[in-house]
Amino acid sequence: TPAARDRLRIAIQKSGRLADPARALLSSCGLSWRESRDRLFCYGESLPVDLLLVRDDDIPGLIADGVCDLGVVGRNVLQEQDTDRRAGGRASAFREWRALGFGGCRLALAVPEAWAWEGPAQLQGTRIATSYPALLAQWLAGEGIDAQVVQLSGSVEIAPKLGQADAVCDLVSSGATLAANQLKPVMTLLESEAVLAGPVTAFDDARRELADMLLRRLDGALRIRNSKLLMFQASREAVPGLLPLLPDAEAPTVMQVDGCDSLALQALCHGAVTWQRLEDLKRAGARGLLVLPVEGMLA
Ligand code: ATP
Ligand code: MG
Repeated sequence: TPAARDRLRIAIQKSGRLADPARALLSSCGLSWRESRDRLFCYGESLPVDLLLVRDDDIPGLIADGVCDLGVVGRNVLQEQDTDRRAGGRASAFREWRALGFGGCRLALAVPEAWAWEGPAQLQGTRIATSYPALLAQWLAGEGIDAQVVQLSGSVEIAPKLGQADAVCDLVSSGATLAANQLKPVMTLLESEAVLAGPVTAFDDARRELADMLLRRLDGALRIRNSKLLMFQASREAVPGLLPLLPDAEAPTVMQVDGCDSLALQALCHGAVTWQRLEDLKRAGARGLLVLPVEGMLA
């Protein structure tokens, strides 16, 4: 076991798709850092939580080796490396702690547009290019298909054009890159998004309390993302007609206003609070509607 530590070290991507949203999410949990000159290590100022800025592929290994305690990384990277470890007979050394709701994409199998797709059996005996060899091999084994996995570290989608492969297994978000290469997605192997990764077991020193606090704040931040606080007044008789218009609200609070027949209501709405909704509420008897941004939440 590594030496007990009283600071938490979180690995995030140095640059790339997850870099800014990861930092923004951690900042929204009250963390701030004094940046070092080389910007590889950021010393935590508000709390003893430091950042290490790295390539995303290095994050699971840094957690496995105990160099970092937590990391923000795509589920695709985490599962690929975990699948690879287990296929090699090693135990899991990291796991997903929380899904973070950004960096959404899927690992998909794509074939040339000219193929009439009839199902996985069609892949028998083909060559499939991918940067996710462990996940692809596991899926092929599960489908009972014998195909050759061609491992490439980048530009996977041009492999069929170059004659290196017949099909590809790659990350897709809009599908534009596939389409530009005359490929079409036919199967989804994994739905992915950015996740908070951590060790398989809980910390047994001062990091435990820090990690628990971070998770509490993170859960609050994730819950109020896209949420608004809605406040309004209404007569007692109107309330039963108003509540169905707030299906996404957590137990709306209904308060009696002193010396007045009307009630004051407040609801934390997790769905979009559109003008249309406000007009529907007004028509159902709501008055003085106020929509407020939510800054923080601690359940
Ligand atoms: P690094 O230099 O850190 O190794 P990278 O090039 O491997 O960066 P990015 O392209 O920045 O990584 O992608 C990081 C993560 O963003 C991916 O692992 C994936 O989880 C997610 N992602 C979301 N949409 C896409 C997409 N369309 N293509 C690739 N990755 C995506
Ligand atoms: Mg990478």
